[in-house]
Amino acid sequence: MNLQCSIDLAAAYKAGPQIARVLSEHWCSRELYCPACDSSHISPSRVNTPAFDFTCPKCGQTFQLKSSRAWNPRKIVDAGYDTMIRAIRSDKAPHLLLLQYTSEWYIQNVLLVPRMFFSESVIEKRKPLSPAARRAGWVGCNILLSGIPEDGKIAIVSDGVPEPEQQVRGEFERVRGLAELPPSLRGWTVDVLNAVRRLGKSRFSLQELYQLEPVLQAAHPRNRNVRPKIRQQLQVLRNLRLLDFTDRGAYQLRS
Ligand SMILES: [Zn+2]
Repeated sequence: MNLQCSIDLAAAYKAGPQIARVLSEHWCSRELYCPACDSSHISPSRVNTPAFDFTCPKCGQTFQLKSSRAWNPRKIVDAGYDTMIRAIRSDKAPHLLLLQYTSEWYIQNVLLVPRMFFSESVIEKRKPLSPAARRAGWVGCNILLSGIPEDGKIAIVSDGVPEPEQQVRGEFERVRGLAELPPSLRGWTVDVLNAVRRLGKSRFSLQELYQLEPVLQAAHPRNRNVRPKIRQQLQVLRNLRLLDFTDRGAYQLRS
């Protein structure tokens, strides 16, 4: 009997998302290095480890993979809202790998969002599933990528071209210090860094940053002292060597 080697394409397309998952997981185990240490690979987690997909065998960092053909730079759909909030509060969220593939199954973009950039203000609650759904009442969440500063979006592959490993690891190293902050404080740090990035320039004044007070107030509605919080977080960012104080009330971002 001759072995039938062709794939039933109609069935393959129907099973698209699952096939994409298998192919992209395979690609990551074969090609991807650890951005957090010098390990040349990351290992797939055991089946039925719902929280993460890969672990670095050397430094133990964990990664979650999300792959899709579509690419929404503003938000991505994630799992359960409560699960994500718990993971953030207990500081156990994995790093996120966002992988985009083409219709010909080429790897187009791979973006790393280090776990330190997930704060409660970038997690959006979705509508509960309808009573007719299998998991009626279940509430999912979106990760608002637009609320994450550029510092937390590290390109590993851009438009089909891999970025140099050294550069990727350098960018990770630059923000590694954020992990040392307690998660309750880190959200503010990331939000202030995002506000600084929104100014769109590397040199800025405190007065310019104060103009974004309403944005930060909206993200932290219970806080009544946003301006002192901004100043405190600028100190934290300076201690993390992400920016310098140049003059009285003037600041400079480090590249
Ligand atoms: Zn590692």
